[in-house]
Amino acid sequence: MPQECNSCLYDDKHPFGMAFKDRTCLGCLTHKEKQTLDWQARKDKLIQITHKLKRHSKTYDCVVPVVGDAEDYFTVNEVLDLGLRPLIVCVNDYFKNDIAWHNLHNLITHFDVDSFVFNPDMNVYKELVKTSLRKYEHVLLPFLQLHTSFPVHVAYERKIPMIIWGQHQAIEQVGKFSHSDEVEMSKWSRQQHDIFTVDIDKLMGNGAQVQQRYVNYYRYPNTQALQKRGTTGLYLSNYIPWDPLKQNYNALTYGFIPQRQIATFDIYDRAGSSIYYDLHDLLKLKRVGYRKCVDHLVREIRHQRIKPTHAQTLADHYMNTPVNIKPFFNWLGVTSSGYEWFIEHKLSGMKHLLSKEPLSESVKLTKKISDLLVNGESPQRSFILFGKGIDI
Ligand SMILES: [Zn+2]
Repeated sequence: MPQECNSCLYDDKHPFGMAFKDRTCLGCLTHKEKQTLDWQARKDKLIQITHKLKRHSKTYDCVVPVVGDAEDYFTVNEVLDLGLRPLIVCVNDYFKNDIAWHNLHNLITHFDVDSFVFNPDMNVYKELVKTSLRKYEHVLLPFLQLHTSFPVHVAYERKIPMIIWGQHQAIEQVGKFSHSDEVEMSKWSRQQHDIFTVDIDKLMGNGAQVQQRYVNYYRYPNTQALQKRGTTGLYLSNYIPWDPLKQNYNALTYGFIPQRQIATFDIYDRAGSSIYYDLHDLLKLKRVGYRKCVDHLVREIRHQRIKPTHAQTLADHYMNTPVNIKPFFNWLGVTSSGYEWFIEHKLSGMKHLLSKEPLSESVKLTKKISDLLVNGESPQRSFILFGKGIDI
């Protein structure tokens, strides 16, 4: 029997690992800190830490890694409020639809910040995605490896002293540490929580036929070299009481476009991804027993915008929503028979969740949640390959 939390919908199968105290998960217990910590003092500490950066740096004070998500709007806004000059760095995952590209370009334009988008070698990337799918039944690992290492390389190479991230997911979801521990970015934390212990070498060994020199940026920089240069990374969620739905709602005022989803009510989180709520969500269900909607519902239970019983009803609905995964296999260049093989052998228990034309049913949300939502848009085009010349 899995151990379940009395307060939220998580159990001990959470991919970050979950501990319990008196039948309540540590994620719920750590969340309660948000009502008790002195957040003004924590913000003052953030101001103090980041103030030092301004004296240190000749060009940029910090690197801010983004994907163009609503949460990135919040993070960039906070960084600018701190008086910092950021360099915005985005790794192209090649899964962005038109909404995602709008949101990324609008973020850069609205806040008028210097930026660049890194477009990894497409053949190498696809080879890694294929291997990741075959060996780990995960399609985002190559992107996650790059997203959590490339910006650190940029900071190191350009002598930019700090990387500023938004939330520390393992604290927000499973309460791995207290906010007041002020956990910093580290190779260990990346290994455990961002890439689930699958580093690039695991994809290379017995797998992807890729030359080592093509994957340097998929690997985290040498820790001693980072220490010597003084490159560090912090998470804003340790200094600001993190409330994603509320924060992301505010991104609308900056021109962020939310996306209507059928597998969750959250129109902000990962808006613009062509796979996040489709194949990635089904593989997540297979690996850990739940889909992304549960993370969203747990978050809303903790912020007291929905009761656990109501959240469970919604989870049952969203968990059974069929999606169309075929476009991903087209993108990867898999033949129809390869696609059929994958369904037969890897998703045999999930055929009821596959549909070419997913249907959307309306669900009853609480007022506290729906007050923070608007009508999301639907993408016109998926898998747009910006950054690689021709998009056909
Ligand atoms: Zn809990």
